[in-house]
Amino acid sequence: MEFCNEFDFEIEKVVKAIKTNDVRKVYIQSSEGFQRCLKLVIDRIRDLLDREIEIFISANPSYGSCLVDEFGAKDINADLIIHFGHTPYPNYSYSVKTLFIPVEYIQVNYVKLLEAIENLCQDDSHKICLATTPQHISMAKSICDNIKKCRCIYKGIILGCYPVVSEGCNELIVISGGKFHCIVQSLFESSYGKQTKILCLDPYNYNLWDPTKDVEKILRVRMWKMHQAIDAKNWLIIDGFYGQHREKLLSQLTEMFKVHNKYFTIVKVLKLDRDFLINMEANKNFDAIVIVSCPYLAFDFADFDKPVLTVGETFAILNNDINRYIYPW
Ligand code: SF4
Repeated sequence: MEFCNEFDFEIEKVVKAIKTNDVRKVYIQSSEGFQRCLKLVIDRIRDLLDREIEIFISANPSYGSCLVDEFGAKDINADLIIHFGHTPYPNYSYSVKTLFIPVEYIQVNYVKLLEAIENLCQDDSHKICLATTPQHISMAKSICDNIKKCRCIYKGIILGCYPVVSEGCNELIVISGGKFHCIVQSLFESSYGKQTKILCLDPYNYNLWDPTKDVEKILRVRMWKMHQAIDAKNWLIIDGFYGQHREKLLSQLTEMFKVHNKYFTIVKVLKLDRDFLINMEANKNFDAIVIVSCPYLAFDFADFDKPVLTVGETFAILNNDINRYIYPW
């Protein structure tokens, strides 16, 4: 259980919410990385409660706060969803009362991170911006408050489909484990022709790295996929559920397909997997696929027989505007 003790599940806050709202039935959902901690978390919640409550765990997809399992919660008539690992999805209203616990990393070597960032300051007018993931919010804010050698602006949380705006920054440092968030932010920057330098700082191993080469590699693949789809007539549109159901985008897209005399078929999926595309013979029945639900899925299916595009890429093709890359839509 070492791993679980390195993160703050805010058990007291959870228990307080249960008591204050007189909750009898709780539905717990967690990002995949923290699912291994749920047994421990539930034991701790029960230890602090003075009465029995019913607790159910959701095993449905939880890649982001776009996929809070509202259907599951309604099915069991839960009073409260407790969602671990993410913060609320922008521009989306949940139909079930939901408490978000970001699950912050509490074992970070703060001084080491502060030094790594402060070393980038050139002079006191230099503006460094920080963006991060839910696991490092308090730490990133605090680092910004404590940087003395230059100015620091905290820009907020990066989601795979909602990068932060880097306006007013000389450099934007993305503090996150793995490559995903930093690359997404870089794709977003390049799609708007922004000049802000992006650097990635891993708070688990303190590695500071430049995503330029990774992004160039991804962009080469994306441009190739877009070229493959230019003459596509028959399109498969993948829409999602909850926050991944994007009504406005879907209607803009279908309108444009009609104007350009393209045929389309729409499917709704909670979790897009390869088996579904194979079962549908999507490689034979369609010329191209566009993902409305989660833009990053298009990258996961880069090796599929037919081009799988994001909405931004598809709009670029339809608008004959492929000289610049647009992410996410
Ligand atoms: S990138 Fe995908 S999984 Fe992440 S928040 Fe956006 S839609 Fe959800």
